[in-house]
Amino acid sequence: MLTDAALADLRACFGDRLTTSPALLQAHGQGESHVTAPPPWAVVFPDTTAEVAELARISTRHGFALIGWGAGTSLEGHALAPSGGVTVDFARMDRVLQVFPEDMRAVVQPGITREALNHALRATGLFFPVDPGANASLGGMAATRASGTAAVRYGTMRDNVLGLEVVLADGRVIRTGTRAPKTASGYDLTALMVGSEGTLGLITELTLRLSGQPEAVSAATCAFDTMAAAVDCVTETIQTGLAMARIEFLDPDTVAACNAFSGMTLPLQPQLLVEFHGSPASVAEEAERFGEIARRHGCRSFEWAEAPEARKRLWRMRHDAYRAILASRPGSKAIVTDVCVPISALAQAVEETRADIAASGIPGPILGHVGDGNFHAILLIRDGDAAEAAVAKALATRMAERSLRLGGTITGEHGVGFGKLPLMAAEHGAGWDVMGAVKRALDPDNRMNPGKVVPQR
Ligand SMILES: Cc1cc2nc3c(=O)[nH]c(=O)nc-3n(C[C@H](O)[C@H](O)[C@H](O)COP(=O)(O)OP(=O)(O)OC[C@H]3O[C@@H](n4cnc5c(N)ncnc54)[C@H](O)[C@@H]3O)c2cc1C
Repeated sequence: MLTDAALADLRACFGDRLTTSPALLQAHGQGESHVTAPPPWAVVFPDTTAEVAELARISTRHGFALIGWGAGTSLEGHALAPSGGVTVDFARMDRVLQVFPEDMRAVVQPGITREALNHALRATGLFFPVDPGANASLGGMAATRASGTAAVRYGTMRDNVLGLEVVLADGRVIRTGTRAPKTASGYDLTALMVGSEGTLGLITELTLRLSGQPEAVSAATCAFDTMAAAVDCVTETIQTGLAMARIEFLDPDTVAACNAFSGMTLPLQPQLLVEFHGSPASVAEEAERFGEIARRHGCRSFEWAEAPEARKRLWRMRHDAYRAILASRPGSKAIVTDVCVPISALAQAVEETRADIAASGIPGPILGHVGDGNFHAILLIRDGDAAEAAVAKALATRMAERSLRLGGTITGEHGVGFGKLPLMAAEHGAGWDVMGAVKRALDPDNRMNPGKVVPQR
């Protein structure tokens, strides 16, 4: 617990922006994750980088941990405090600091959410394309190296964060990267921090790459007879180099849940949801070429959603898929799996996963951003049913192991937190020890989000 002296130092720095109210501690001690931990000891709401640096010095003096908090939507316990500490909620550091339209760059604070950033950018003709569905914060998205539905075209946070301001464990403030399109200047500290899940430092500013809002957008749903046909269609589409903006897969169970939740009437078959961005001519040509590939793979129906409202409805439905699936089994909780395999192994990975889930007796609708080989099974377990939880965890582990066997990764986008720690050695071998060495070099007292990502010793 925090000592009186530590609390006094925190109060002197944050005043009433320090809270130990049980309700707020509780709210920062749970999230969307299936893993659980006790609430943190206190929560602070910084306004400036200088305050975050002072906080790091206070934590050094008194020896307590700091855990960053963006929107709390991470899925592997990333932002929880399993061994106590102070949560640093960035909600008040939520401003767009500068936009450089000619350079297509923006500098933002970490607490701004993806939707708020795009709202602020709407008059510039630019947008920030990384879209994890949840209205996550940019700081949390950088910390988890998030991606989502549009990554197949625009890349992940790794590709769209050009620079950072970071407060290190000892209170030093470093700046990484520049606004330039590229650099060969030494170790890539931006890349090191992106995906470090707050274990190496707290991000207080981000320089982002923006994209031009497309002149024309077209979206469609296409139904297939089998999952294999839908996935093979994705594989051929990607291999031919067609510039898809989104290519999402829903299995029939996901389609049923989405229809019920979002009032849609999609055929109860494996579905691809696709979107094209570009000029009117390029969109028409790409849609035509995709249509040919889809028909070759036995696409049954092709429904265009060209009007902005129809597209919005379609992607709202996709973004609500998680809630729709949860609602399909009232009283259940979800273990959300997240594997990513090379595109050539996608069909095998999805088929084997499907068979494994069917044999388990646990409901596990499958969906994913299959254009980049990334898919999820949402394993639904009755809340409090230990036997179902054990079956689901074993399924999730087998999914991760299958992904590794096929040349993939244990997490395509959600990250490690402490939920995926037991799988890290299998993916990285000695490389995981190197991650631990980097952590010790930057945070020798293990005060930055301890218990996550690296080997625990
Ligand atoms: C319905 C649903 C759908 C999702 N879909 C996707 C998806 O398609 N793609 C995807 O990538 N993810 C997805 N996620 C997971 C989640 O949205 C992402 O991991 C997101 O990037 C987390 O952002 P956040 O702001 O909620 O971060 P939080 O959950 O608050 O924190 C995540 C991690 O970042 C750290 N952190 C937060 N802020 C900072 C900071 N300023 N400095 C340093 N560390 C910090 C935290 O300590 C923690 O380790 C989904 C989640 C849900 C619930």
